[in-house]
Amino acid sequence: MRQALLPLALLALCACTPRGNDQPAAAAETGTAAADATTASNHEFHDAIDAGDFTEHVQQLASDAFGGRGPGTAGEEKTVEYIKAQFARIGLQPGNGGDWFQTVPMVETTADESAALNLTVAGAPQVLKFGGDMVIGTRTGQAQVGIKDSPLVFVGYGVDAPEQKWNDYAGIDVKGKTVVMLVNDPGFHAGDATLFDGKRMTYYGRWTYKFEEAARKGAAAALIIHDTEGASYGWDVVKNSWSGPQYDLPAKDDPAPRVPAQGWITGDAATALFKAAGQDLAKLRAAANKRGFKPVPLDATLSLDLKSTSVEKDSRNVIGLLPGSETPDEAIVYMAHWDHLGTHEGETGDNIYNGAVDNATGVAAILELAEAFRKAKTPPKRSILFLAVTLEESGLLGSKYYVAHPVVPLDKTVAVVNLDALAPIGKARDIVVTGKGSSQLEDLLKAELDKQRRRAVGEENTAAGYYFRSDHFNFAKAGVPALYIDSGTDLLEGGKAAGEAAGKDYTDNRYHKPADQYDAATWKLDGIVQDLETMYSVGATLANGGEWPNWYAGNPFKAARDKMRPAAEKTAAASP
Ligand SMILES: [Zn+2]
Repeated sequence: MRQALLPLALLALCACTPRGNDQPAAAAETGTAAADATTASNHEFHDAIDAGDFTEHVQQLASDAFGGRGPGTAGEEKTVEYIKAQFARIGLQPGNGGDWFQTVPMVETTADESAALNLTVAGAPQVLKFGGDMVIGTRTGQAQVGIKDSPLVFVGYGVDAPEQKWNDYAGIDVKGKTVVMLVNDPGFHAGDATLFDGKRMTYYGRWTYKFEEAARKGAAAALIIHDTEGASYGWDVVKNSWSGPQYDLPAKDDPAPRVPAQGWITGDAATALFKAAGQDLAKLRAAANKRGFKPVPLDATLSLDLKSTSVEKDSRNVIGLLPGSETPDEAIVYMAHWDHLGTHEGETGDNIYNGAVDNATGVAAILELAEAFRKAKTPPKRSILFLAVTLEESGLLGSKYYVAHPVVPLDKTVAVVNLDALAPIGKARDIVVTGKGSSQLEDLLKAELDKQRRRAVGEENTAAGYYFRSDHFNFAKAGVPALYIDSGTDLLEGGKAAGEAAGKDYTDNRYHKPADQYDAATWKLDGIVQDLETMYSVGATLANGGEWPNWYAGNPFKAARDKMRPAAEKTAAASP
């Protein structure tokens, strides 16, 4: 096997606690192996959310027999069969039109790194080389992308945000052109709390957004100028992440448009390029931070001959349905990714990445929630969908595919709750809401936490945009209100110091390492059980009521929701 040969610097980037997925990490393998021993134990399950049941699921999923749950490996077969068997035992129905599985196609693309950006700047040739000066690739699936003399335009942050009344593309047609833009957003770089969300990264700061927007505008190529502060990582990380195989859905399965060629250039290369074109990048950076910025055509053109090889593979989401008793066509979704990094052949010592915290805990969580809802005295009025998605570690692909091919239409999907890497560190006075201040789902959560005299807090590092880096983000982008919660850090035993120490211990010693294993001696599950009971109550409120919580006013995803839901709901969303 040859998966996750990518450097640890990259693995540390794309993650779950530290949360979210930034860059593709682990490769999927082709072929399947026979399933066996999916539910070997004789454990007796309880109806309610239960620490013993939770432990049983984690122990199974994170055992060496599951091989680290690498997509496309024998570990996938065991994992999806285990989840299917548990869904069936609990009494759910197959969620995908009579099928438990949803096939997720993916394409692995590797760019020929001999490609260069051949520029003509103020009449003189200039070459930017792969790795040292730039990285470039395509997600179109085309074996060859040819671009000839495409004019360069500096488009500030490359942001068109109607609700922010901000358009970096104002007054210019970039069809066939090459757009060059800054990373992050104006609020971050200007340090101005009144611009966007100040230092907190908004959706518009994400590189994924910038490339999609460039594609919507018809650009032939899009280049992001790297800066370490804005990206929150150095050039080496960009270089490593963009070298070797890249993973995505086949273009036909992705609702978002794709720019023919997309990449990054170093700050130094950009400074030199702008200077040769008679411009001052520092001055343009300052101009881009001000409202009313206008795009600036550069005296430069780009030619590129990009060759790539691609291979198609597939994996599976597992979907269980608990039909609603009154409005079964409406659904609440609980989601967790089942995949992890697999087994790394050739590594000495323990080479099985068991992924007990990441994300056997999340799968165990949705199984426990499913059991509690199924065994409740009265069935929910709305349906509840339990979604175990694949290929999170490879770029959120299972959830992306689901959202493009939902089994319950998105305009009938009330909300999604994502569970990823719950921390077995005991009860906390708080619960972490990543991207706090996003949607009215947080009001429901707050009501539950108030009863427990607990509180919701935002994630620690808000500049890193974690809300946009885990599976629920694909729902959010499509407009479906999404709640991404994580274990609290203000522990009953030891307070914040203990919580932060536990977080650091996980990040330093187990996160995306073979050591992420179940450990009966140290795992404390009372906090996770409490959090799951809380999330059960939030889901039950939604499932037994008729509410359609929306995004808070000003949220970038509200427009998409308003487009699909009736007008009466649109005015409801106040600010956080
Ligand atoms: Zn995860």
